[in-house]
Amino acid sequence: MAIINNPAFTAFCALLAPELVLAQVRVRRESAGFELRHVSDAESTPESLRLVPVNELRSLANHTAAGEFRPLKAAPNLRTGWRCVVANDVELESALSQLYPGAVADWFAAQLPEPPVTHYRDYTARQTGMYRITTMLSDAQAGQMIGACCDARFCLKRRLWTVPGLAPDAAAAKSLIPCLEPCSVLLEFARKAMRIEQEENKLTVTLAPSEVESLLAALDTALVHPPTGQREADLSAATNPRRLQLLRAKLQGFAPVAESGGKE
Ligand code: SF4
Repeated sequence: MAIINNPAFTAFCALLAPELVLAQVRVRRESAGFELRHVSDAESTPESLRLVPVNELRSLANHTAAGEFRPLKAAPNLRTGWRCVVANDVELESALSQLYPGAVADWFAAQLPEPPVTHYRDYTARQTGMYRITTMLSDAQAGQMIGACCDARFCLKRRLWTVPGLAPDAAAAKSLIPCLEPCSVLLEFARKAMRIEQEENKLTVTLAPSEVESLLAALDTALVHPPTGQREADLSAATNPRRLQLLRAKLQGFAPVAESGGKE
């Protein structure tokens, strides 16, 4: 059996006893080697799944079932209906690095007494050009924006970095894959969120609590059923799910508090 000389990967393999789930992929030890498949296919028979060679996993991870590009490989929209059988540790490392690039190294780094985490303020302070405005979001605005962007609906990485007033994701949240610093999608979303804050001619709208409730319900429906062809990274689209999630977070503060034994 080929053995890989990589302390991070060796430590990760020790968790395989005999299987583990990494984000949306179940990895299981077999008599010879390992099998990987989508966790939703855990109960499927091997024959019902398409056998994918290791070198095709990158292309499998690049697009959703609908053919949309996946800018974030930790997004919870990995295709189902496949399995991949690898013969040894070397092939397993290759398979995982195609499905979740950098995940094992980041997981290992997160075990250190002081994980190499870069928080929002430090990260944005070193931005130049068009991303400098990401420093202008207040802590509360940044917290709301981060909550929307990194919601489990969009990303399965466990966020370890923070901004004042916002806690990191809980240990059991999302998946084993940590997020050690803001990603490019978040940076772009922060820029868009600040641009929205800067828009002039803001409207003042008076809504009854029931109308806020209806708007929240409409946003929930839109988030569950995004329009077909919606590109995840297209933040100029008013229907972009992260924009809807941020709007939902803003509206949520005005939602009526549920009554226990309500009357009609
Ligand atoms: S910054 Fe947020 S969206 Fe980006 S990888 Fe990290 S947790 Fe995911």
